[in-house]
Amino acid sequence: MNAPASGGAPTSHLYIHVPFCVRKCRYCAFYSVEAADEGLMDRFVTCVATELGSRRGPALETVYLGGGTPSLLGAARIARLLDAVRERSPVSSTCEVTLEVNPETIDRAGLQACRSAGVNRVSIGIQSFVDSNLEWLGRIHDAHRGRQAVEDSLSLGLRTSIDLIYGLPGQSVRAWEEELVNASGCGTDHISAYELTWEPGTPLYRERVQEGRATVGGRIVRRSMGERFFFATHETLERLGFEGYEVSSFARRTQDRSRHNLATWAHRPYRGVGPAAHSYVVDGSGHRRTWNRPELAAWLEALERGARPPADSELLSPEQLLMERVMLGLRCREGIDLEACRAECGETAVERLLERASAMCAAGAVELRGRSPGDRASVRVVPTLKGMALADRLALELCD
Ligand code: SF4
Repeated sequence: MNAPASGGAPTSHLYIHVPFCVRKCRYCAFYSVEAADEGLMDRFVTCVATELGSRRGPALETVYLGGGTPSLLGAARIARLLDAVRERSPVSSTCEVTLEVNPETIDRAGLQACRSAGVNRVSIGIQSFVDSNLEWLGRIHDAHRGRQAVEDSLSLGLRTSIDLIYGLPGQSVRAWEEELVNASGCGTDHISAYELTWEPGTPLYRERVQEGRATVGGRIVRRSMGERFFFATHETLERLGFEGYEVSSFARRTQDRSRHNLATWAHRPYRGVGPAAHSYVVDGSGHRRTWNRPELAAWLEALERGARPPADSELLSPEQLLMERVMLGLRCREGIDLEACRAECGETAVERLLERASAMCAAGAVELRGRSPGDRASVRVVPTLKGMALADRLALELCD
C-alpha cells in the first residue's frame, strides 16, 4: 500500500473519472464535488491530458467517461478530453466510447455535439420514472427530463443505457415492476438496475441512521426484500426481451452489452485517470491495483506542477486474484474462467475450487459447463439465477 501509482502500463480500456456534480444526491457515495465553476472544469480537462502522459498507447477498445457527472463538462470540454485521448492512443470507429449523463445537464444539441466528438454510447442516470422517487433520492431532474434524454439519445443513434434504483422505502415489488415496464417502453437498449444501499458518509445514511430512523451494521442492505426485488427484476426484464448478463445489467441484444464493464469483470487490465480513478495493471511486478486519492485539489496541484497525483497501490496475491475472479465471475452469466484462474493461481487452487463448485451444483447454485463433455480443461463455473443472487456468499465458500 501507499506506493505511487503507475504512470500507466498500456491497456486497451480507459476510464476517466469526472468529479463534478450539480448537487450531491442523497444516496451517493461516489467521489464528486458540487457546483464546479467553469475555470475549475477547464483546469480538470488540461490535467487529464497531462495525466494521460505523452507515451503512445495501444489502440483502445473502450473509453468510459464516468463520475460524477461527465455531461456537466459540456460538449466542448468532452471533445477536448477525447482529442487528448486520441492524440495518445488510436481510437477506431469500433471503440466503445461511453459518456455518463445526468438528464438535467444536457439537451439534444449537447448530445449531438458529444456524438460528433466521438461519443457513441450514453449511460443515463434516470434512477426512476416516478417524480416523488426522484425527489426523495435528491435527483435534480424529473421523470419528463429523463424520458426526453432517452428519446434524444436514441433519435441520434447513440447506444443508450439507463440506470435505475430499486428498494426505496415503501416501494412495492409491483410498483418496481411497473417502472421496469416503463423503462422497456422508452426504447433503451440496456438497463442497469441497482438496489438502494445506505452508504456511510452519504446524507441518506446520516439522516436515516444517525437520527435513529434505521438500524444498521455498517451498511444497510435489506436482504430479504432485496432478493424479492432481484428476482422480480430478472424475471420481468427477461419477459420484456432483455438478457440479464450480470447481476445488475440487462441488454436487449448481445451487442448492447457494456463492453467496458465486461472487460473489467473479465479482469482485463484497465487504466483510470482523474481523482479517485482506479487502475488494474499487469506488468513485470505482477497484478496491481492502483488508485488516485479522492482529492481534486491535490490531484490538480500535483499535475500542474508536473508531479504524479497522490495515489496508492496494492500488489494482489494469488489468493486475492482468485477471490476477485470468483466474485466477478459469479456475478456474470459467463461464469468463472477457470483457465485464467489456473494460469494466475495454479492447478491446486483450481482443483479445490472445482471440488467445492461440484458440491454447489446439487443445491442449484452453479453449473459446470465445458466446451464439450469430459473436457475438464475448458470447464467454467456458471452461476444460476439463484447463484447470482448469492454471489458474494458463494464466492467466500468457494475460496475459503
Ligand atoms: S449525479 Fe451521480 S455521481 Fe453525482 S451525486 Fe448524483 S448519483 Fe452521485
